[in-house]
Amino acid sequence: MVQAGRMKVNKLEEMLHTIDAEARATAFLTGRSSFDCRVMEALEQVPRSAFVPPELIDYAYDNRPLPIGRGQTISQPYIVALMTDLLEPQPSQTILEIGTGSGYQAAILAQLVQHVYSLEIIPLLAVEAAALLSRLGYANISVQAGNGHDGWPEHAPYDGIIMTAAATCLSPALLDQLKPGGRLVVPFGRPHMTQDLLLVEKDIDSKFHSRKILEVAFVPMMDEDHDSAITHGKG
Ligand code: SAH
Repeated sequence: MVQAGRMKVNKLEEMLHTIDAEARATAFLTGRSSFDCRVMEALEQVPRSAFVPPELIDYAYDNRPLPIGRGQTISQPYIVALMTDLLEPQPSQTILEIGTGSGYQAAILAQLVQHVYSLEIIPLLAVEAAALLSRLGYANISVQAGNGHDGWPEHAPYDGIIMTAAATCLSPALLDQLKPGGRLVVPFGRPHMTQDLLLVEKDIDSKFHSRKILEVAFVPMMDEDHDSAITHGKG
């Protein structure tokens, strides 16, 4: 047991070092050579091993995405760190996540903000993530099954919105749910290719400014029927 515990700590430390190194290596693209220490602390505190399927537990702290079933993935830790850092989360904030998946990204954010609202289009994944997050003691995450395309208006406006599936359009309804001064992070572009990770900022006059950060590869946003990607320009 002690041995297993030590191995986990070593792997977690290795993951954090890899994220640090990758942050430095990509600074010329992202404009940030290291991530906020609160973000790194959150990555240290949330046990990624709890969010991967049991048969992949040995790979839980590898810096790569892993399958979580139903064709979906838990994102690469470096990308989770980068997207979280780009949101610049603050303790008083509420964040909307689209694409709960395993619940890992939601858990990271829940360490950093007041409340996380997360939508997941595959009902079974939503139920499983909600159960896991509640088992782990997260009282400040609300997960709901549903299509995130139009956001979650009941709890809007949000200080930040994070989309963890590749979008080919951003609906006006969703953009309306971002507070002036808020930030939205999204992998934007056609599925099954690389997308541009975009940081979209809404200024205090509600004008949008968007900046490409770097290329990423995400699973596509799906439509209500769970199998067709939202087509370019729709919505
Ligand atoms: N954030 C997740 C990784 C998500 S993978 C984690 O930390 O594990 C992308 C997720 O987005 C998948 O679970 C997928 O089912 C979900 N998704 C795809 N299209 C969606 C949509 N239109 N609305 C909500 N969720 C969607």
